[in-house]
Amino acid sequence: MDARILCAVVAVAACRPSFEPDAPPPYRERACPSGYVRDEAREVRLVARLEANGFEADRARLASPVCFGPARSLGVLAGSRVVLRAEAEDEELAARLAHLVVHIEDDVGDGCRHGLMHAVASEQRASILEDILRKRWALGPAPDGATEAIRDYERRCAKP
Ligand SMILES: [Zn+2]
Repeated sequence: MDARILCAVVAVAACRPSFEPDAPPPYRERACPSGYVRDEAREVRLVARLEANGFEADRARLASPVCFGPARSLGVLAGSRVVLRAEAEDEELAARLAHLVVHIEDDVGDGCRHGLMHAVASEQRASILEDILRKRWALGPAPDGATEAIRDYERRCAKP
C-alpha cells in the first residue's frame, strides 16, 4: 500500500511543469548560508537512498546543492537552498529532502509566494511523502509535523 501511495504522490508531482535547468534564480543559487557547508558525498547518498525507494533521482537533484549545518529542524528551505541538520541520520534527512523537493516543485519558496492555500496544499503533499518514507524506514513521526508547519504558514501568509 505504501508503494502505491508513494507512486500516487509522485504522479501528482510529475504533472507539474518540469524544472528548467537554465531557469533564473531562485533555483540557481549555489552558495550555502553562513555556517553551512556542502557535502557532496552525503548528498549523493541521500539521493541514492531516495532513488532506491522509487523517488526519481532527477527530482531529488532539484534540491542540489544541499547545505548541511546547524538547522533548527531536520531541514528547511532557506531562500532557494535546502539546508539540512548535519547531525541527523541519513534516513531522516533523505525523507526530509523528499519533502523539500515537493516544495521546490511547488515553488513555495519561503512560504507565501503563491498564497496560503498553495502553501498548505504543498505542505500536505510534502508531509505525506515524508511520512511514507519515515514509516518505511521505521523512523516514527517527524519531530516537526505538518500541523506545526501549516500553523506557521497561516500566521505568515494569511495577510491580504
Ligand atoms: Zn514543508
